Amino acid sequence: MLDLLILLLLTLAVAIGYWLGRRSKLATKSGTVSGVQAHYIRGLNYLLNEQQDAAIDTFMEALEVNAETLETHLALGNLLRKRGEVSRAIKIHQNLLARPGLSYEQAQQVQLELARDYVKSGLLDRAETLLQELVPEVQPALRTECLEYLIEIYRDEKEWLKGVETINKLAGRRFTRLPDEWRIIQGHFYCEAAAEAIACDDYLVARRHLRSAVDVDKSSARSSLLLAELEQRLNHHEEAIKALKQVPQQQPQYISEAITLLGKSYSVLTKDQDFQNYLQVLQRDHADWSIRLAIAHFIERDEGVEAAALYIGEAIQESPSLRAVGQMLALQLSSMGSATGSASESIQMADQVIRHLQSRAPQYRCKRCGFSGQRMHWLCPGCKTWASIKNIQ
Ligand SMILES: [Zn+2]
Repeated sequence: MLDLLILLLLTLAVAIGYWLGRRSKLATKSGTVSGVQAHYIRGLNYLLNEQQDAAIDTFMEALEVNAETLETHLALGNLLRKRGEVSRAIKIHQNLLARPGLSYEQAQQVQLELARDYVKSGLLDRAETLLQELVPEVQPALRTECLEYLIEIYRDEKEWLKGVETINKLAGRRFTRLPDEWRIIQGHFYCEAAAEAIACDDYLVARRHLRSAVDVDKSSARSSLLLAELEQRLNHHEEAIKALKQVPQQQPQYISEAITLLGKSYSVLTKDQDFQNYLQVLQRDHADWSIRLAIAHFIERDEGVEAAALYIGEAIQESPSLRAVGQMLALQLSSMGSATGSASESIQMADQVIRHLQSRAPQYRCKRCGFSGQRMHWLCPGCKTWASIKNIQ
């Protein structure tokens, strides 16, 4: 199968050949075409000798830049960037900008490509400057693209508030409501800023960012989890519980993130019974294993390990879970104490197998790209999607 780059170079060769054919009558009048012809033949030779780099340089030099050929130049630059040859893509785009004959709009298109090259090569500052210059100048379609790239840059640079401002510009006119997908991202940017403030014990600023997060995205369970973390740091456990109780209504998929924090605050307040009552209410509406395991913990404490193992065993029949099977076996082993015999040995063996499987099984997975790991990421490291990672039950 032909490599895409070679295919594109052949297309370039054909384009130059066609152009030379059209211009051949003028060749004798000026030296221009004969110069191009020499480049063309040299480029073909490089291609035949599989010297692709030299072929690219030669063809780019030979092919005139105009409305018809610009797409070919841009396609080659794009292809090189995708192949990871970013410095070569940068060279092509910089050369294009230096050529006369580009219209104002075409030059802006090339500048956007150059900004993409800078992003890809990690030169985020340069990309940011270029895109900021472009935003007020370009046509609406390109403007959106520039803003989206800027938002990615601010995300990667962790410039959360600049990111929020840039998303606002996507709405265009003032008071135009942003699409929900952007409001959700804004919510995460505010949450990131709040998490940083909490880490620095700057609770006033953190509260402000968390309020903004809810303003832009009412269903931001992450803002409730962060608020609870903040309140717990201040020993405000009633407030922490109040915040955590929002999570099931906001985004039930994050209940498991709230359960441990709830347990901590209820425990500090010595309100275990209230926690148990709340878990029972939750269990009626949500089939989440973190709720059941928390209930099992109380059953074990109040009624013993056998009752807890029985409770989990019944729940497993409704909704199978590797984690729950592990918990049940651990409880059964614990109820057997130092008993020996074939039943005890079988359970021990099953327990070991489950532990082994659990140590290899990820706890979290991205529903978009399948990235998996042992800890929660709000931004998927694989596909860079917000809130696509969920706890695997
Ligand atoms: Zn992903």
